[in-house]
Amino acid sequence: MKNEDLLAFTGNPLDRMAVRRVDEHWLQEQVGATGTIHLGFLADRPLLLVDDPLGTRPYSISMDWVREPVFLGRNDQDDLMFASLITEGTPETDFGPNVKAIDLRSLAIQGILPPPVLGILAQARTLLHWHATHRFCSKCGNRSEIREGGYKRVCRTCQSEHFPRTDPVSIMLVTRGDLCLLGRQSRFAPGMYSALAGFIEPGETIEDAARREVFEEAGIRIGSVHYHSSQPWPFPANLMIGVIAEALTEEIVVDYTELEDARWFHREEVRSMIRGTHPQGLAAPGPFAIASRLLKSFVDQDVAATVS
Ligand SMILES: [Zn+2]
Repeated sequence: MKNEDLLAFTGNPLDRMAVRRVDEHWLQEQVGATGTIHLGFLADRPLLLVDDPLGTRPYSISMDWVREPVFLGRNDQDDLMFASLITEGTPETDFGPNVKAIDLRSLAIQGILPPPVLGILAQARTLLHWHATHRFCSKCGNRSEIREGGYKRVCRTCQSEHFPRTDPVSIMLVTRGDLCLLGRQSRFAPGMYSALAGFIEPGETIEDAARREVFEEAGIRIGSVHYHSSQPWPFPANLMIGVIAEALTEEIVVDYTELEDARWFHREEVRSMIRGTHPQGLAAPGPFAIASRLLKSFVDQDVAATVS
């Protein structure tokens, strides 16, 4: 797939070398090896080289800054990549005049980096965030240690193993013939409507979660649910699972604790929202987000063709 067809954070090209990374001795050697790339993060923001003739790209920090590196994998050029969290309070100016720490959401919205590069940064951010917030064993409360390049922590005291989390979110485009259901939350930009979404709870299938969320938020009963596509969403560890959900009922009952509004939109109205030509100035989410992909499929009437 070409970069322009990819959603932000998708198309991560790294070989994660899951078999190799369990070898702690090998990993330790690679950390200091010539050619190894070390990405740096200031809190949740990656360091980038900007204003460079070769374009904006991730900045490789020197070994002085490497601390508890997590292993990301091997890139197309055979370079191994790690990521480290820079000591809190370090100013970005310590890395040079052309190095900036920019948050991933801004990078995705502005389309500054290709989706596969954003995908690598998403992997790094999610892993680093998990380690920064899970330093102690949830079973006995004692300190745990990083293992297997960051894909596991082991408690020093009780030997419990802990694994990085990924939180699945179902994002539903509810359709009814030429209509689709969109809602808006108060935190959205003025006039923006999007697909409904919610966390998948323990013991639920993706389909169960989609049906429950749509009924809770908008009072609509759902029949069939088809998988469409997915997107890593590293804020901090979500996986957005996009589905097309077929409505069985039409009367909307909005849950105002979750939504400011929800209503049916005709296919043509959605088309004008995507194009930015809606007469009342209503808008759809930007092309970086999976909701835009779901809406585009609906507008192009290829929803059935993309179900897999
Ligand atoms: Zn423990």
